[in-house]
Amino acid sequence: MPLTGLQIFKLLPNTNCRKCGYPTCLTFAMKLAAGKEALEKCPDASPEAKAALGAASAPPIRGVTIGRGECAVTVGEETVFFRHEKTFVRRPGLFQTFDPAGLTAAERDARLDHWRDVRIDRAGETFQVDGIAVVETPGAPAAAFTGAGAAAVAASERGFPVAILAATLPGAAAVAERIKEHRPLLVPPAGANLEGYAALAARLGIPLVVGAPDVGSLADAAREAVRVGVGDILLEPPGDDARSLHHSLTVIRRGALDRVHPGLGHPVFLRVGAGEIERGVLGITKFASLLTLDDSGGETWLPLWTLRQNIYTDPQKPLQMDAGLYAIGEPNEHSPLLVTSNFSLTYFIVSTEAEATGMACHLAVVDAEGLSVLTAWSAGKFSGERVAKALRAMKADERVSHRTVIIPGYVPVISGELEDALGDGWRVLVGPQEASDIAPFFRDVWAQASV
Ligand code: SF4
Repeated sequence: MPLTGLQIFKLLPNTNCRKCGYPTCLTFAMKLAAGKEALEKCPDASPEAKAALGAASAPPIRGVTIGRGECAVTVGEETVFFRHEKTFVRRPGLFQTFDPAGLTAAERDARLDHWRDVRIDRAGETFQVDGIAVVETPGAPAAAFTGAGAAAVAASERGFPVAILAATLPGAAAVAERIKEHRPLLVPPAGANLEGYAALAARLGIPLVVGAPDVGSLADAAREAVRVGVGDILLEPPGDDARSLHHSLTVIRRGALDRVHPGLGHPVFLRVGAGEIERGVLGITKFASLLTLDDSGGETWLPLWTLRQNIYTDPQKPLQMDAGLYAIGEPNEHSPLLVTSNFSLTYFIVSTEAEATGMACHLAVVDAEGLSVLTAWSAGKFSGERVAKALRAMKADERVSHRTVIIPGYVPVISGELEDALGDGWRVLVGPQEASDIAPFFRDVWAQASV
């Protein structure tokens, strides 16, 4: 169990020397208890304290890495049940299920290239396929081995971490042997006898998915896999329908956090079949760490990426856009220049309404540390000086010839300071308070002002 602040305090030197950056050992202990500091910052901590705190601070859910290098996916290491208690640590890995049976090598490579090249930028994050789950097709052994093994190799060569969705132990072994140095995830078929798969994973040193018909058996199976030498495990929860799956996911996370059984302290693996987006939603919202999506059409990816982005962010840090000058439509030097903050929600509302006007414009997004306009202004992060500095950094004067900037209607108070700070013939127009009023503003005010 984690130690309390007072328990940690009793292990510290209690000299209040401030070398850790905090005024007292008690303050530092409270930060350690909250998981916001590392013991290494106290240079005088005794070996006994390090041993005690190290064991107590190990995350209740083990971290597991699939793949190698910069594209590897690490999951687990979660410490809370609800996101708002602190934050979720590792966003779930989303793997595309890929059955290469019946494809030519060129068709196979074209699909892998397509998934590798998918990139969607949204609110400071680039959405992309995290890995490939290769289906090992049962049937004529030689053909099956060739198809799945070659696909696994081709996926690894493109940098994808690979999960092997096994149908048979010999087939899985043949595929795993070919890419073992890429640290694939071995996924036995549902209901399989795990003994052979565990021996294979232990021999190759690769992670293994463990499944069982109920949570108690699952925990026991995971412990048995550890006993035979499997280092890294993911748990496949029982539950064919949403209700029973929700129950399993909840019991596993609660059991892991409360450390009721060592076999529950592993990340969770979930298969999402074709057309089962609600299963994916349940998995992402309720603690699944790695999901395989059987979605060759691509329609479930965007909603699940977006859902993941909204849940797997630090609730204390608002979603932010990158600061910069964004083009709405195809603006030119005569187009309006709007300015707003880099709070994602603000950006999307303003850009959507501006786009809906049908008039191209420039949108200057100022770094306000992810706060909305009025909040940022009240915190001193959307002042005239700061906006002017941002516009200069964006070289706004090279984009527009009219030297007019339209500020949000909630902060008319910065107009004078901004005009002074910009100087050089710039003028400031106070825009509407609500983004929905941008269209009438362009029509009634901008049309007059830009004459
Ligand atoms: S560095 Fe260690 S001994 Fe010094 S104040 Fe911080 S916790 Fe206390």
